[in-house]
Amino acid sequence: MSDYQQVFENNKQWVASKLNTDADFFKKMATTQHPKYLCIGCCDSRVPTNEIMGMDAGEVFVHRNIANLVCNADLSVMASINYAVLQLNVEHIVVCGHYSCGGVKKAMEAEDLGLLNPWLRNIRDVYRLHMDELNAIKDEHARYNRLVELNVEEQCINVIKTAAVQKSYLANKYPVVHGWVYDIKSGILKDLEIDFEGALHEIQKIYDLTGSGMMQKK
Ligand code: ZN
Repeated sequence: MSDYQQVFENNKQWVASKLNTDADFFKKMATTQHPKYLCIGCCDSRVPTNEIMGMDAGEVFVHRNIANLVCNADLSVMASINYAVLQLNVEHIVVCGHYSCGGVKKAMEAEDLGLLNPWLRNIRDVYRLHMDELNAIKDEHARYNRLVELNVEEQCINVIKTAAVQKSYLANKYPVVHGWVYDIKSGILKDLEIDFEGALHEIQKIYDLTGSGMMQKK
């Protein structure tokens, strides 16, 4: 059997094991979804989002792109955030980066990467914003790891800049935005413990889209 055919064999076994645990599993899946989490992660094949969170199908709404970026002109990620907040009413939005991220690594190199240039420029922008801190780290690997973390923090800020998140939080006190980094070498998920309320307050000094008139008071 080829590797390709094996996929369908694996699928049959997976269906059987699911039905063995819960005979109605697919019936429930077919009705609707109520995930509490939107997870924006990297495409990297070594980061199986649901698995590392210990969650099953139906529990996490997932958006993935190279280096888990949240760019305001990227219709795809913006649509995912909008849908997750306005239609699914997720309570948590997670930006999950990972150490050993190839996208972040490439953004640290002086190289023309063609189509990847404009995408990875977003990471170079993160570097520029935090240049003093990053350049003070002499060990290149430690600097790379720190850029992975700072990239997650900046993408969380980009999530907070959206009208959907700001308006929903004002009305419902959710979603809360979190930044995580997954360590491929250990499997451990690290919470960067972003101060969401503090970040929201700072962001709304300039990017307030709630229409509540809060900006004028600042
Ligand atoms: Zn990556």
